Amino acid sequence: MNTAESFDYIIVGGGSAGCVLANRLTACGKHRVLLIEAGPSDWNPLVHIPIGWTQISYHKSFNWGYSIEPEASTNHRPMYWPRGKLLGGSGSINGMVHIRGHREDFNAWQAAGCEGWGWDAVLPYFERSERHIGDDGNRDALGITEVEPSEISDVFIASCEAAGISRISDFNTGEQQGVAYYQGAVSRGRRQSSAHCYLKPARKRDNLVVVTGALCERICFAGQRATGVLISRKGKTQHYQASREVILAAGAINSPQLLQLSGVGPGGLLREHGIAPVVELEGVGQNLKDHLGVMVAYRISGLHTMWNDMNPLGLVKQLWRYIRHRLGLLSFPSSHVGAFFRSSASQARPDIQLFFMPVGGVRDERNRSVMDREPAATAMIQLVRPESRGTVMLRSASATDSPVIRANYLATDYDRKAIVEGFKRIRKIFGQYPMSDYRGEEIRPGEQINTDAEILDHIRREATTGYHPVGTCKMGVDELAVVDPQLQVHGCRGLRVVDASVMPDIIAGNTNAATVMIAEKASDMILSTVTR
Ligand SMILES: Cc1cc2nc3c(=O)[nH]c(=O)nc-3n(C[C@H](O)[C@H](O)[C@H](O)COP(=O)(O)OP(=O)(O)OC[C@H]3O[C@@H](n4cnc5c(N)ncnc54)[C@H](O)[C@@H]3O)c2cc1C
Repeated sequence: MNTAESFDYIIVGGGSAGCVLANRLTACGKHRVLLIEAGPSDWNPLVHIPIGWTQISYHKSFNWGYSIEPEASTNHRPMYWPRGKLLGGSGSINGMVHIRGHREDFNAWQAAGCEGWGWDAVLPYFERSERHIGDDGNRDALGITEVEPSEISDVFIASCEAAGISRISDFNTGEQQGVAYYQGAVSRGRRQSSAHCYLKPARKRDNLVVVTGALCERICFAGQRATGVLISRKGKTQHYQASREVILAAGAINSPQLLQLSGVGPGGLLREHGIAPVVELEGVGQNLKDHLGVMVAYRISGLHTMWNDMNPLGLVKQLWRYIRHRLGLLSFPSSHVGAFFRSSASQARPDIQLFFMPVGGVRDERNRSVMDREPAATAMIQLVRPESRGTVMLRSASATDSPVIRANYLATDYDRKAIVEGFKRIRKIFGQYPMSDYRGEEIRPGEQINTDAEILDHIRREATTGYHPVGTCKMGVDELAVVDPQLQVHGCRGLRVVDASVMPDIIAGNTNAATVMIAEKASDMILSTVTR
């Protein structure tokens, strides 16, 4: 083993959260920071051209390629869970839909004991992390733009209104109920990952060292104080020391795995794998939440769909639009129009999110989107406030073995009922004028699926991850909490977790914006704290 090089802060994981931290902690020039990333750099153009997400999100070289354990609730399917393994992490392979969440999501965090995480307290950090057209400030922030309008999207919006979902102008005000064009983390036709927007400008600083292709195998401790990390890179093991803090930003699957590998986790699990406990924390790897989604697709005639561009002339035109104006097919995030609504009148706020795409798509056996070879349109709904909770637990004591992921989808009566209601609402929307004038046959799943029982059975066979795992190192003060509201690991010193895993409950909406917000807020906390 080489002699240990020392840094003030070591950040493990150069993903959505890690890249923000690397920028903010090095900005004042006082601290030496090491960012460790298991994957490669984000050089591939498919990362940066938005349409590339359909390919890059399944590319083996940039992906941990997890699968959840087969479970009866989803028909024993080994569902594929992509997670980004490159600079920018999952934020470099994601669908770029930009949603902050509902104000009551954060107020509920605060009410559950996460002091300082209510909507009013997190809003300034969302604002700091976004750069909208015309904004002069917020230089190192995610560029956010609204999706380019189209006739088919306008028709879908009008049909949502006819189905009782009002048009709103912006999902990111803290209220969500309604239908609108999505905002995307896309600017001038380019993906706005935190690697691009935060890390790239920070890399010229002398006090930041970025090491890629380096797998962190465990955190090193002196007693309960984190003192550094052990990594493997190019077949060699290396030790780095942290004089102030080790900050885990390895994401909702890998952060709990790393804590467990390092002796911080459920005592029984640690002993089962022969790992000496540093701090027994039952909650590490518990409380996993994700959004489960299901699609309905229709044939379309008389409106321009993405399939109509899938010919040599159409593609040349689209390429020209992209090069010249940074618009069109190549520039879209994964969904164009969204809606939030309540699965039943008893819900106090929206619990279903809808994604509209002017294209027909199937997911193949690896959960990959494959385009239908005909003009079609698809809507997917996700259950955004699920009750079901799963787990992430060690499979072995080796950092190279993927952990055992149990999603435990559809475990409660509410989850099953709400997702069935969401599915039925898609059919209702497509049945409304003006969409009713353009829609043909329901190509997925097909009109033979009718009763609630048939719909639920279909959901068990076809529903897929919304790609939003969170909560496995949850923030709070209860017995399952892993970090406190300062994001410091309970019972440890010099150790924080800053990523999607700290969300005490999943937010209603895509999770990237909230993860970036968490990292922004954490960077202020870290810089204002004298380490315990
Ligand atoms: C296919 C897909 C589509 C999505 N679509 C959207 C969307 O449209 N909108 C949205 O808001 N959200 C979306 N998400 C979710 C969003 O991207 C994530 O919630 C967010 O990126 C999580 O950020 P994070 O920092 O917690 O983890 P990540 O961004 O995953 O970062 C973790 C990083 O840590 C690294 N790492 C892990 N373990 C180690 C280790 N042992 N040693 C060194 N490095 C390690 C990883 O390689 C990775 O780079 C999507 C996600 C996926 C996968």
